[in-house]
Amino acid sequence: MSRPHAYRYKFVCFMCNYGTYLPVEIRAHIFGHTGEKPYKCLLCSYASTRNFHLIAHMCVHSGEKPFKCSYCSFACARQSNLLVHIKGKHQ
Ligand SMILES: [Zn+2]
Ligand SMILES: [Zn+2]
Ligand SMILES: [Zn+2]
Repeated sequence: MSRPHAYRYKFVCFMCNYGTYLPVEIRAHIFGHTGEKPYKCLLCSYASTRNFHLIAHMCVHSGEKPFKCSYCSFACARQSNLLVHIKGKHQ
């Protein structure tokens, strides 16, 4: 209890008392202060402070196709693609 964070953790936040052994964690934590989201999705506007959040998000694009056409069986991962499909096929 008497030892300051700097001795217990390898990386300590300069803006608060947060400390961690992981460089990734301290980076993500400081981005939380600055509002920066360096991990950006290449397929949509999603952005996150943490790499594993982005990896989890990418499942949306890789596997599932949540945007389904209401006129036929077409499905896709991006809303813009669905709009292109509906415009091209059903209008
Ligand atoms: Zn902090
Ligand atoms: Zn995305
Ligand atoms: Zn369709």
